[in-house]
Amino acid sequence: MASPDVIVVGLGTAGASTCLALARQGVAVRGIDAFAPPHSHGSHHGLSRSIRRAYLEGSVYVPMVLRAWEQWRRLERDTGQELLVTTGNLTVGPADGTAVSGFLASARAYAIPHESLTAAEVNRRWPQLSVPPGLVAGLETEAGILHAERCIAALLDQARRAGAVLQVNERVRRWQAGRHGIRVTTDRGVYEAARLLLAAGARNSGLLGLVSNPLSTRRVAVHWIDPPPGDDFRYGVLPVNFWQLPPEEDSASQGFREFYCLPQLPSGAGVKVAAHNNLAVCDPDQPQPLITAHERSACDAFLKTCLPGLVRQPARNAVCFYTQTPDGDFWLGSLPEQPDVLICALAGHGFKFAPVLGEILADLLTDRRPAYDLSRSAVDRFDRER
Ligand SMILES: Cc1cc2nc3c(=O)[nH]c(=O)nc-3n(C[C@H](O)[C@H](O)[C@H](O)COP(=O)(O)OP(=O)(O)OC[C@H]3O[C@@H](n4cnc5c(N)ncnc54)[C@H](O)[C@@H]3O)c2cc1C
Repeated sequence: MASPDVIVVGLGTAGASTCLALARQGVAVRGIDAFAPPHSHGSHHGLSRSIRRAYLEGSVYVPMVLRAWEQWRRLERDTGQELLVTTGNLTVGPADGTAVSGFLASARAYAIPHESLTAAEVNRRWPQLSVPPGLVAGLETEAGILHAERCIAALLDQARRAGAVLQVNERVRRWQAGRHGIRVTTDRGVYEAARLLLAAGARNSGLLGLVSNPLSTRRVAVHWIDPPPGDDFRYGVLPVNFWQLPPEEDSASQGFREFYCLPQLPSGAGVKVAAHNNLAVCDPDQPQPLITAHERSACDAFLKTCLPGLVRQPARNAVCFYTQTPDGDFWLGSLPEQPDVLICALAGHGFKFAPVLGEILADLLTDRRPAYDLSRSAVDRFDRER
């Protein structure tokens, strides 16, 4: 068999979808993963991921997420599986905070069906929620939840069927650019290709080989909480809810505290609650405590204020990783001075975009111009700031 044109390191969210997009274009692609995705050692586990189109992080993401939504639906048709369920998405925060104003700007710019609500209106409609006075909310009525592991398995299955060569339980140790392309060394062999994509998620930093690396791996302690009896916390009844809260009065921090809650799916695993910022830096290859005292008390304080019905309910914890950039935007494109080596880092909000990211990365890897504004994801933006 001829050497693949592209090697993709990591077969999680970005890697699986890029292998699928490349294989659909007829490009020879070899994907390699240290584990066997879907798995719980990276960033794509935990049953559910929210997908919303009124994108509070910036209107520039909306065309991408609109395409992703379409492609998730295509993947459902191609595989005959349910991947995306709708339950609505509520963004809560101060009227002048970045979350609610970003949500409304995107919703209005792209005529995405939405409602603006006061704290009292939210509390009346969903008595499970307790929005503090002074905050407001935006509801995207058609947003939803992706079945995370099922999505990864479906992307990999379709990639394999389209002709991608996928190798699992094989760790990439290093890569080297040479005269005949890129040489990749794993714990099982050596492979060569014209182009390389580093889609190793939380472990990208270890493979970058850059002196100035803007990525930091952060731990997210996920709380799985058994709701009280009844349907109040079930998807279809409760929207996904994202909260941007002012700092606590006695806190030294001046910044907003951000949390989210995903309603219970039919799997019955519980209501999923996690912090979205103020996350600790960690080494994903070191053993991680399931929860620290700080993470527990931050979550308890959030629940007490915003979801009081979940306080003192039985709960379990799990750890997942964000690969953070300094500004929270993606980091996509060729490495400095290595045009044939591309990086993809998703800053803790990339899952929903997977199918479109696959198309974008496949375009970049085959010298095509992606159809989206990627200026906020530029690889050299942190160098320019220095
Ligand atoms: C708790 C939590 C909740 C989230 N919620 C949402 C949400 O609601 N909506 C949303 O859109 N996003 C959400 N995200 C973010 C989203 O899940 C991530 O941005 C996305 O999954 C990252 O994809 P990735 O491809 O970079 O990493 P991954 O999907 O983790 O894939 C990386 C792959 O690389 C492999 N790998 C690593 N090192 C090597 C190596 N040396 N050799 C070979 N393979 C290697 C790993 O095994 C892994 O399979 C959430 C993340 C977390 C942690």
